[in-house]
Formats: sequence, structure tokens, C-alpha cells
Amino acid sequence: MLRSKLPDTGTTIFSVMSALAAEHNSVNLSQGFPDFPVDPVLTELVYKASKEGHNQYAPMAGVNSLRDGISELVNKIYGVRKDPEKEITITSGATEALFAAVSAVVDRGDEVILFDPSYDSYEPAVLLSGGIPVRIPLTFPEYGLDREKIISSINSKTRLIILNSPNNPTGAVLSGDDFKFIRKVILENDLYLLSDEVYEHIIFDGMKHYSVLSDDELFRRSFVVSSFGKTFHITGWKVGYCIAPEELTTEFRKIHQFLTFSTSTPFQYALSEYIRESKRVPDLKGFYEKRRDYFRVLVESLGAGRENGFKLFPCGGTYFQLLDYSALSDENDLVFAKRLTVEFGIASIPVSVFYKNNTDNKVLRFCFAKEYSTLDKAAECLGNFLRNS
Ligand code: PMP
Ligand code: GLN
Repeated sequence: MLRSKLPDTGTTIFSVMSALAAEHNSVNLSQGFPDFPVDPVLTELVYKASKEGHNQYAPMAGVNSLRDGISELVNKIYGVRKDPEKEITITSGATEALFAAVSAVVDRGDEVILFDPSYDSYEPAVLLSGGIPVRIPLTFPEYGLDREKIISSINSKTRLIILNSPNNPTGAVLSGDDFKFIRKVILENDLYLLSDEVYEHIIFDGMKHYSVLSDDELFRRSFVVSSFGKTFHITGWKVGYCIAPEELTTEFRKIHQFLTFSTSTPFQYALSEYIRESKRVPDLKGFYEKRRDYFRVLVESLGAGRENGFKLFPCGGTYFQLLDYSALSDENDLVFAKRLTVEFGIASIPVSVFYKNNTDNKVLRFCFAKEYSTLDKAAECLGNFLRNS
């Protein structure tokens, strides 16, 4: 029998829950993707790029004009210049960038600090490089950094920290003080930082996103990953990018070139023209804050007059809202999420899947990147559950 390299890894929860939602015709607030249409300008641009003949391999590091466009956007947003030639690589989604960055710096026996919970692709990437994931629990229920635990876990084998803010699945946002703390830890211990900033533009209540891009010294030891999937509502295009200093980018590209070689050409041309024309990213803050508030009000109104109901966690960023159902059921969160999907027609993600040991705090994640009518339907389903519980 083949010895598995990832014996403890099953099929990702996003596939599992989306398939279950489709099977039962449920409202799908599980896997994170928008259900509203893409800007038709973008779809036209893909067609145009393909019609104009951009159908063969793109340059390995990415189409030049797209890398230039990213450099300009970064300059506009964070006030720094990143070299499109030497520091920016286009990848097949942020997922590929995360994998290539981990592969570039993690060697057999190296320890990698991951938070518990964390996004599900980090740990398998570390394991496949022979690294040792060291899970540091986030505080509960705040989902904040435990500084003492981070400091005490660092030793001569520690190589990399993987950070994600705004955070999937928790919706928590790194504070300025926490950013300074991580910066100090990385620089004082000569570690590397992989900063997953795919939700950099989806941040609420006037909060600031502390990007590693805006800190020159920290950037020298960092990979910064982002994704057009989140920014332009095109998760299925799978176009992301990694920005890293030249030394790290050189190693990163050695891996990228043999993972995928390059990313889909017409999509890259479409995005480069789109960025060139608009010269900005859309106002995702206002756009998603309205949806967050809409969903929260719906959930709150379900609980009106009830002592026991779904409890809302704060959501400072991302398009995920966490709900605590501990007052409603003792069921394990995976069992409960599946039952809600099958019996009440609403799919979510059980948060335990993001923990090393499947810690079950009875919390579900709901994606609110949806039409208001979808959110209405979702609330109706949750209401039906409450009436029956
Ligand atoms: N990192 C995080 C935190 C994510 O939530 C996602 C996807 N939702 C990714 C990476 C992967 O992004 P992509 O779809 O561009 O591969
Ligand atoms: N990142 C998305 C989420 O958190 C899903 C990505 C995927 O399906 N691989 O839901």
C-alpha cells in the first residue's frame, strides 16, 4: 500500500460542504466565494485577450504589464515601490503562492509557527517540505495572539511564521501593536515571515490593515501573498501573486516554474488592462461592511426574545461571520454543520477543521459575500432551525 505523505489530511472541508450544499440544494454560505456577478468589463477583457491571441504560455513570472500594474497599485495603496521584474510573481491563486513560499524556505526538520486555528492549506505545505508545524493557540474567544506562547516556542529550529490578517476563519484583524510584536520577533530571531494578505482590502469599522509591504525592514525577510480572487470577486480565475525581496523571489520562482510554470494568459492580460484602466481597487470595505451588517442584523433579529440563540462574534475583516451555537446544541460542529445543511438547507463551515486537534468550540463560519436575497434565505433557514429546536 502507498504510504501517505499526508496521512492525517482528508478532502478539504470546502469541497465537502459545497458538495453537500449542492446535493441538498441548500443555501451555500460555506466555501468562501461571492454569488454576485463579476464586472462585465472584466469578462469582456478576457474574451478580448483570447481573441487577440494571448492564448499561449505567459512568461514564467507573469505577464509584464500585470506585474507593472500590481507595482503601481501597491505604490498607491502602501506608498512603497516594489520591483515588478525582481520582486513580483504572478501565481495560480494565493494557494500556489503559499505553497511555493513555504517550499522555498522550509527544510526538513525546520519548525514553522502556525496559529490555531489557521487556514487549512498551511499545514500540509509545511509537512510536504519536511517541516514541523508548531501550532500556537489563539486566545479564545478573542482569537488574539498569545505573545508569551509565541516567544517561548521559538528555538534554533524555528524558521518561519505564517500570519494571516484579516484572518480566515476568525475575522479578526491584527492590531498595530501585534504587528510591531511580530516584526520584532521576526527580526530579532532572523526568521522568515509568510504574510497571507488575501483579505487586505476587506476590513471594517475604519480599521487599518498593517501590510508587511509598508515596512521595508520586515519586508526583507518576508513573502507577501494576495489574490485577485478576493479583490475582484473572481475566485474561480485563480490568479494571485507573491511579492518578496529579490533573494526570496529567486528561490520562490525556482519552485513556481515547476509547480505550474505560469498562470493562465488571457486572465492575466484581462486583469492588467482592468487595473490600468481603473487604477484602483473597488471599495470593498463599504461593499462588504454593508453585507456583514445586513447578515448580523438578520441573525440578531432571529434571536429577539430568545435567551438561547446564535451568538455573533465580532468581524473586523474578511467576508466570514462566526456564530456560536453552544446554547442550541451539544453536537460536534461538523455534525451540526452537516445537519443544518441536510435538514434546514443552510451550509456553513465548522471552525474545528482549522484546528490541529479539531478543537470544537461550537462555532460555525458563514460567508456573507452574497446577494442580499441569499442572506435573507440563509436567515430563513436558520430561523426554521430555531423554531424546530
Ligand atoms: N489564503 C486565505 C486565508 C484564503 O482564505 C484563501 C481562499 N479563500 C486563500 C489563501 C487562497 O486564495 P486563492 O483562491 O487565490 O488560491
Ligand atoms: N478560501 C476559501 C474559504 O475559506 C475556499 C478556498 C477553497 O475552496 N480552496 O472558504
